[in-house]
Amino acid sequence: MTFTSLGLSEPLARAVADLGYDAPTPIQREAIPAVLRGRDVWASARTGSGKTAAFVLPLLQALSEHPGRAPKQIRALVLVPTRELAAQISEAIGRYGRHLPRPLKTCLAVGGVSANPQMMALRGGADLVVATPGRALDLAKQNALRLSSVETLVLDEADRLLSLGFTDELTRLLALLPARRQNLLFSATFPRAVQTLAAQLLHEPVRLSVEASAPPADSQQAQSTIEQRVIEVDTDKRTPLLRRLLETHAWSHVLVFVASRHGADHVTLKLNRAGIPAAALHGELSQGARTQALADFQAQRVKVLVATDVASRGLDIAQLPAVVNYDLPRSTVDYLHRIGRTGRAGQAGVAISFVTASTEAHFRLIERRHHLALPRERIAGLEPTESAPPALDPHGGVKGKRKSKKDKLREAAAAAAAQGPKRKS
Ligand code: AMP
Repeated sequence: MTFTSLGLSEPLARAVADLGYDAPTPIQREAIPAVLRGRDVWASARTGSGKTAAFVLPLLQALSEHPGRAPKQIRALVLVPTRELAAQISEAIGRYGRHLPRPLKTCLAVGGVSANPQMMALRGGADLVVATPGRALDLAKQNALRLSSVETLVLDEADRLLSLGFTDELTRLLALLPARRQNLLFSATFPRAVQTLAAQLLHEPVRLSVEASAPPADSQQAQSTIEQRVIEVDTDKRTPLLRRLLETHAWSHVLVFVASRHGADHVTLKLNRAGIPAAALHGELSQGARTQALADFQAQRVKVLVATDVASRGLDIAQLPAVVNYDLPRSTVDYLHRIGRTGRAGQAGVAISFVTASTEAHFRLIERRHHLALPRERIAGLEPTESAPPALDPHGGVKGKRKSKKDKLREAAAAAAAQGPKRKS
């Protein structure tokens, strides 16, 4: 799926390509077409899901398709709980809109700084205003901000807006908006107050939940704060290698990625038998079991969470010091999603990939895809003895009878590796 196939124009697709976004995130896949159709949207989405682009991109498209604003009027109002978030969104608008043929005017209206420059900026009206509720209301009272022609209202982080005590301001602001408008509400959680607000605000909304979403891969961020290591090992020595790493590193907790539900259960059992508290997380567990496994991991009652990609989507684990790719991800994009679980918020993190003779060629594809050239390590006593297979690993995951493009590429790379000179290690 591409941004263009979601209905976005070429200048917007080009802007996200410039930023290195390969594909829309789940929330973007769902929200962008709905917003473009003019629907109200009620989305459960956290920071890190790509939610800003999910509403900014279609908003920019709608605003640039139907240009024109009356003096002093504004066309889209984005309300957020904090100045920082407002600044971030306004910067994102600048980045996503940079190739639009007609520049759109965006104003910030936030508290904590003098209102005068904001009033001046709003004089001729604006296409978009990103505001905190208190300042928006002040400016509206002084007639510097006219809300009667707002076409789209966005409430971002609605749960925080309400918990920070903006309920009164919101009610008063809503009263100034025209009755006919599009409403987009984003919230990470849905306490009763948010539900009441949603019921009051939204008209037949499209409900979106991105429980199953991965945080977007931000390769620059990933590569700057995350140390990436690659260890060569035989397939059947991966659990001993994992145990060795757990013994030799003082990690508080570790997220281990495996390829299948069976793998997750198997590795978990082995670790538990070795006295290492571990839990499995995969799509076939009940919701209760998944919640419990996650809660135990977050509280560090279990040290290792062994997860499949499916189950790990949407996980937001604070201060995770290490991620291990016990099995490599099939998709090269998932490599960044996985390693991005560590090193968050500027914290240092390490991502270690286990590479076997049969997955070496696939790892090289991952490296090429992300412009990486990582040194291979070997651990004393666990040095690999297997040699590369001449063709595709039979467990490489061919789903149907016909080989996928990816599998063919992998096969070709493996064959080339088998013929080529031996790599030094
Ligand atoms: P947000 O959830 O909006 O705070 O976005 C979090 C981060 O994800 C930001 O750094 C964005 O630049 C980045 N991002 C958003 N969409 C994508 C995408 N489709 N691919 C890669 N990164 C993205």
